[in-house]
Amino acid sequence: MAATANATPPPPTLVIASGNPGKVREFGALLADLGLRVQPQPEGLEVEETGTTFAANARLKAAAAARATGCWALADDSGLSVTALGGAPGVHSARYGASDAARIDRLLRELAGSCDRSARFTAALALADPGGAVRLEVEGICPGTILEVPRGGGGFGYDPVFFVPEAGLSFAEMAPAQKAVLGHRGRAFALLVPRLQELLA
Ligand code: IMP
Repeated sequence: MAATANATPPPPTLVIASGNPGKVREFGALLADLGLRVQPQPEGLEVEETGTTFAANARLKAAAAARATGCWALADDSGLSVTALGGAPGVHSARYGASDAARIDRLLRELAGSCDRSARFTAALALADPGGAVRLEVEGICPGTILEVPRGGGGFGYDPVFFVPEAGLSFAEMAPAQKAVLGHRGRAFALLVPRLQELLA
């Protein structure tokens, strides 16, 4: 059938600059109300995370995915920064140990005896246009402290040792909906969504 003059244009495509299917699903859910076609980045696209900040790494990933696909692309980079460790593990959060348990063990060992246990999680999001230019950046931060003993069975990564005073709970003790509101990624998305709507309208 011939297209009619007033046919609705297709929704814009947004590539999620990640090879992690869990992350692509999570982003899809967070962006569900925006009427976008969300798709993963092409298989095999590897981007070296050479940035020294979360924001720089998010920019690198978003620009690479946009250039590879010719579509708008959204990337995130996140991690834990501990005050007494000079901001470590920071951008090396994923590589701080061989497993979640090893990363937590190392963190607790390095913090042993320290009276300053303050820390924060950061999630940086970057959106690149189809030409690869970064058009939007936001950062969500969740302040907290590092517990001496892990608590809770939910979540992933450093969640059992990250305590959020505002909630009186570790991330691993929170229901996913509460972590989505108080957590760094949720806070970053809350900042992103209204600006994304404006940009892609
Ligand atoms: P990336 O942003 O996927 O590179 O993740 C960086 C690393 O930071 C992850 O592998 C986790 O170790 C840690 N991380 C990021 N967000 C969270 C979180 O919400 N809870 C626990 N660990 C996290």
